Amino acid sequence: MGSEAVKVVVRCRPLNGREEALGCRTVVSMEVLQGRCCIRRPGVPEPPKVFTFDGTYFMEQTTEQMYNEVAYPLVEGVTEGFNGTIFAYGQTGSGKSFTMQGVSDPAVQRGVIPRAFDHVFESIQCAENAKFLVRASYLEIYNEEVRDLLGSDPKQKMELKEHPERGVYVRDLSMHAVHGVGECERLMERGWRSRAVGCTLMNKDSSRSHSVFTMHLEICSTDEDGGGDRLRAGKLNLVDLAGSERQSKTGATGERLREATKINLSLSALGNVISALADGRSRHVPYRDSKLTRLLRDSLGGNTCTLMVACLSPADNNYEESLSTLRYADRAK
Ligand code: ADP
Repeated sequence: MGSEAVKVVVRCRPLNGREEALGCRTVVSMEVLQGRCCIRRPGVPEPPKVFTFDGTYFMEQTTEQMYNEVAYPLVEGVTEGFNGTIFAYGQTGSGKSFTMQGVSDPAVQRGVIPRAFDHVFESIQCAENAKFLVRASYLEIYNEEVRDLLGSDPKQKMELKEHPERGVYVRDLSMHAVHGVGECERLMERGWRSRAVGCTLMNKDSSRSHSVFTMHLEICSTDEDGGGDRLRAGKLNLVDLAGSERQSKTGATGERLREATKINLSLSALGNVISALADGRSRHVPYRDSKLTRLLRDSLGGNTCTLMVACLSPADNNYEESLSTLRYADRAK
């Protein structure tokens, strides 16, 4: 498979009120046409570090533009029966949820997830000679444990199973038939609430969990030449990753530190998988190293598309984290 199957873009949000109040300076800049992102170490007169990506989105650029340029082709592929995965990566507060969930006002900043809902159902409406069955599931991985965000008990741990034909799946994960955008949005909101409630119940921090919203499409198309029906299946995974911040900085100890180590483990496992895939020559892709990569195995690599959006804060006091995000994203290309 070629490197085209993995695309990596970076998005840098504007300075927020807190950073402005602290008098933070911007250390990130972009040369959008060249896909270059530059970061300058604060207070040091050395040349900036420069990284090149498949796309760069700076402060004022919108989710609408990003979606149309890089997410649209991937989601279009899913409506044709391919698997695809979109990730948002970055430290807490860098704009992952803003990118994935988004806001309804202004409309241009509607998130990737609701845009994907619109896109899928528009394609279904326009499709001739094809019938679609769409189901949705929503789960979270916290501390290498899987929970169903749309199930009856947000505390129940689910098992990952392997089936010779179905591949890896989550046993008893609830699947919800959806017929339109509204139903998808309601499921997403329900899951989002359940994620927060579950975290409160278990005294956990939701920025430390990975959430995966999946749209499962079954497409039955009728061959116009009378060749009979053809069945295909496409899957779209929309993933909001746990914050990538290094935990040494947060002073975590005991249980919290053990948790943090597992988060870092699954993020580094994901980085290793994507990097092996993007390289195209690696024989061994280390899917088995984390729950997240095992779960997404059939949607990463092979005949699938992967998009990673690396989110950054522009502020000088986040320099180290932003540099580490850029390095992670750079490896994934
Ligand atoms: P994360 O999910 O990575 O923890 P959030 O998406 O919650 O971060 O973003 C943190 C804050 O920054 C939120 O208040 C969000 O509205 C704001 N923000 C993030 N990205 C942008 C952007 N591109 N433009 C404007 N505001 C943004």
